[in-house]
Amino acid sequence: MSSHRRPIGSKAKFKRKVVFPKNRSGGMATPENNPARDGDGDGEQEQEQAQEQQAYWSAAEQVPAMHLKLPLLIDGHVTETSRKQLGVAQMIMKEVSQTPLPLLERATHVDFLLGPLHNGLSSRYTGLDASRPWIFYWCINALTLLGEDVGRYNERAISSLKPLQHKDGGFGGGNGQSQHMAAVYAVVLTLAITAHHAARDLPEAERMDVYARSFSWINRARLLQWIRRTKLPNGGFKVNEGGEEDVRAGYCALVTLALLGYDEDELKGDPAQGEKPLLDGVLEYFKRCQTWEGGIAAKENSEAHGGYAFCVLAGLCLLGEPREMLSKYLDLDRFISWLSARQYAPEGGFSGRTNKLVDGCYSTWVGGCWALVEAAANGIESAGSPVKMHVGSMWSRKALIRYILTCCQGPRGGLRDKPGIYPDFYHSNYVLIGLSAAQHYYYYDDDEDDDEYGGASSAAEGARSPFRHAFRWKASRNVPKPSDPRDGRAGGWEEGLVPSEEDRVGMQHPLFNIPLGAEAQLESWWRLFKGAQ
Ligand SMILES: [Zn+2]
Repeated sequence: MSSHRRPIGSKAKFKRKVVFPKNRSGGMATPENNPARDGDGDGEQEQEQAQEQQAYWSAAEQVPAMHLKLPLLIDGHVTETSRKQLGVAQMIMKEVSQTPLPLLERATHVDFLLGPLHNGLSSRYTGLDASRPWIFYWCINALTLLGEDVGRYNERAISSLKPLQHKDGGFGGGNGQSQHMAAVYAVVLTLAITAHHAARDLPEAERMDVYARSFSWINRARLLQWIRRTKLPNGGFKVNEGGEEDVRAGYCALVTLALLGYDEDELKGDPAQGEKPLLDGVLEYFKRCQTWEGGIAAKENSEAHGGYAFCVLAGLCLLGEPREMLSKYLDLDRFISWLSARQYAPEGGFSGRTNKLVDGCYSTWVGGCWALVEAAANGIESAGSPVKMHVGSMWSRKALIRYILTCCQGPRGGLRDKPGIYPDFYHSNYVLIGLSAAQHYYYYDDDEDDDEYGGASSAAEGARSPFRHAFRWKASRNVPKPSDPRDGRAGGWEEGLVPSEEDRVGMQHPLFNIPLGAEAQLESWWRLFKGAQ
């Protein structure tokens, strides 16, 4: 480092950069004791200074204190990482303490997301040619979160995605490309979302036609065989034959199998062919990916990471009731400790790993984990077995909302990692899903009769779905505050999460990351379709 530059973490820099007002007892100027009033400068300047002080003061009044000061503990061991962290915290502190809180710029984000659907993509996107289904999914899902009807893209989704099915059953990311689990996942989600919107408000028969057009052409038998070939002896999955192993592949495989209506009979395999049940060992595999930090890694003996943590939590909940699954297959206390450390102050957003910077996309990967952890802590919530004690929010929803609204909105539309970084379709989707997670309360409801899905009433006659638990999630606009620990009395609702209804985004399914309700429609269509075969 050149000698004239002061290390960013030094005390002197810290003092010079912090320009926000201290609290009233700290002697900060207030409108009442404004030092500008004592001066003999010209009136206009005094007025301007008074207005500035007023603005600072009202910011301090309205903005929670956590956003107005740097952390009390700063790593004394200066490294590139600690310098970057302090620099980002200082930069974001200015943005995040804005008052009033900016509105969600819905219309400009919609324009940004409609761009690739209406105008195509520029040559800058050539490198993303293997991510065609992803771009489709990111834009489509983000549009639904912003309240747009994407049913009009259903036919285009079908005609664009159909040619991506490989003759061996999987899907590639582009025409003629090799198969990849992530591409398969994005194809299935895109079809599920567009069919859901295209079918709503239609009479029953026409609704079923939309689903038939969207899904009946998928070669499920070949796809299942291909997924079988990605299965590993350790219980996990690879992203493709010869590809890397990680929990993302396991999560994408489970979501695909759940949304394409595979039942236990289909998944158990044919012992005569040497096949084992496809899901054997996957839960224990997920369990082994929890690290010494308490977080969850891509595979065994790797570094804990928010994205992989979401894949494992959602993967566990796809196969069972959240409380049972998370307590049986995770050291939940250690996981909560690691997850809590992902939310930073003054930023309010989440980092994905220890010693990493906040990034808007972790609003989904980490924020989405909280919905599942809270559901596990609260237990099953239904009329038949009401929750005895709500734990309340185990994270700061308001801080994340503030980070998203002040730091993640690109000035010309689209959402982003952090200020200074261009928005993109990926971040637009995952920042908005995170906003939805902060605005809504998700719970697991087992009120439905176990037999209703995949049981006696099933078209598959007795073939239960191993994913039946995944279809029992509900959401509420009311986020419960903690119950009173002395008598278990309800604590009411958390207020101020949606300061203006303009800011409210749609509800998502907390495991599939598609609009809530899209999964149920698809599931009922598979029942009819399989029953008719
Ligand atoms: Zn990101």
